[in-house]
Amino acid sequence: MAVIAGNWKMNLGPVAARAFFERFHADDVPEEHEILVFPPAISIGAAMQARPARVAVGVQNLHWEDAGAFTGEISAPMAAEAGATLALVGHSERRHVFGETDEQVRLKVEAALRAGLTPVVCVGETLEERRAGQVDEVIVRQLGAVLPVLGQHGARFLVAYEPVWAIGTGETATPEDASAAHATLRACLEDAAGVAGAERVPILYGGSVKSSNAAELLAAPDVDGVLVGGASLDPEEFHRIALAAPAQPSVHR
Ligand code: PEP
Repeated sequence: MAVIAGNWKMNLGPVAARAFFERFHADDVPEEHEILVFPPAISIGAAMQARPARVAVGVQNLHWEDAGAFTGEISAPMAAEAGATLALVGHSERRHVFGETDEQVRLKVEAALRAGLTPVVCVGETLEERRAGQVDEVIVRQLGAVLPVLGQHGARFLVAYEPVWAIGTGETATPEDASAAHATLRACLEDAAGVAGAERVPILYGGSVKSSNAAELLAAPDVDGVLVGGASLDPEEFHRIALAAPAQPSVHR
């Protein structure tokens, strides 16, 4: 089983979201694979109406309060009411463009869980941090900031390893680099939840995934799926990526 997730970022309004699903077909993608899309919040309703039933819809970001005087923000209960069942939390663009801190990411994970949304917690190092040999330190810190909350709730969650230098740049981590980071994250999950608990958490790789590199990334040890940005905007390309998922069941769910 693999998770194939598409993050549309600030693209595809409601009309384009409907048009996407007119062209995206998943009938030939083995049932064991999970397909997720994260439209902009304003397109969640349209995506819910137009998607095939097997495609789950998530929100890209949320505020940590459930309601209040936060003009322009969207809360987890609102996203859930619109049909979202998952929430991306701590995406690198939220952390690095909008200055989101580990503490805010923790609060957002709590808010998602309160509303019954499955968090997809994104972690990843910058190029400077990679060059300084700090990959493990950074991703363990980012995941460590949310694990106590996730442990308390015992709810399902996913982790996405997205090296910042590989997002939207055309640069992709090698399958070996991805596996190494995923093994570090798996060990961190094992410390918190034991081997069996850690095995249940899908760890996705994200960063310039496309149909030409998806198969080798999805075949790499400890890679349970992919989080695709730019290439997920093209329904035929996203479909090709979903078809690249290996047919055999992954041990990590
Ligand atoms: C993303 O937005 O999560 C992402 C990985 O983007 P891209 O595939 O465009 O690098």
